[in-house]
Amino acid sequence: MSLGITWTTDWIRESARVVAEHRVELINLDRAIGDGDHGENLDRGYTAVMAKLDDLPPDATPGDALKLVATTLISTVGGASGPLLGTAYLKAAGAAGAEKELDGAAVVALLTAARDGIVLRGKAESGDKTMIDAWTPAVDAAAAALAAGKTEAEILDAAATAAEAGAVATEPLVARKGRASYLGERAIGHRDPGAQSSSLLLRAAADAAKG
Ligand code: ADP
Ligand code: MG
Ligand code: MG
Repeated sequence: MSLGITWTTDWIRESARVVAEHRVELINLDRAIGDGDHGENLDRGYTAVMAKLDDLPPDATPGDALKLVATTLISTVGGASGPLLGTAYLKAAGAAGAEKELDGAAVVALLTAARDGIVLRGKAESGDKTMIDAWTPAVDAAAAALAAGKTEAEILDAAATAAEAGAVATEPLVARKGRASYLGERAIGHRDPGAQSSSLLLRAAADAAKG
């Protein structure tokens, strides 16, 4: 089963739902090692996305929907995460192109493009205690699942599981990018809020593929 516009809009709706559900948790993570606005930033962004989602034309492609998320997040989220996630969705939209249906290889290409967009914009490397520490294990797990002949839903499930582990693995790290980098060793023991929110967004993608 390939993934089309229904999966894409289900993913977006589920993302908005989980961001709202985890708003306070993300605020508290960011309060510990940042400025405490991450949950607020994302909730504002996805609320704005939800207000525009029904305006998509009936023949919209996955790329059209991802582009709508990109432009809306860039204009409403602010902070470090707005331009970073906006770029991720913009590059994901570019990878999806004008296709109506995405197969496993296209799903891996979409996730890879999203991650590469975040790196291009934020210059973070693995282990810098950022959202990249969720995205890169997710991309690697997705590629491995594709190579093992898994379905689109299994590929996304593998990506989400790896992202969740990646977010947990940021806890012992010192941050080298973003506000948390000002804290030095005081960031140790705290999970990176952006890695946590990215793991939620990737789990939303997997849940949307279950139908
Ligand atoms: P701000 O720090 O501007 O208040 P947010 O709180 O919305 O923005 O987002 C903070 C998150 O952004 C961090 O937890 C981290 O995951 C991510 N982040 C910050 N800088 C970078 C970067 N250069 N590359 C990748 N991710 C980053
Ligand atoms: Mg913040
Ligand atoms: Mg801020």
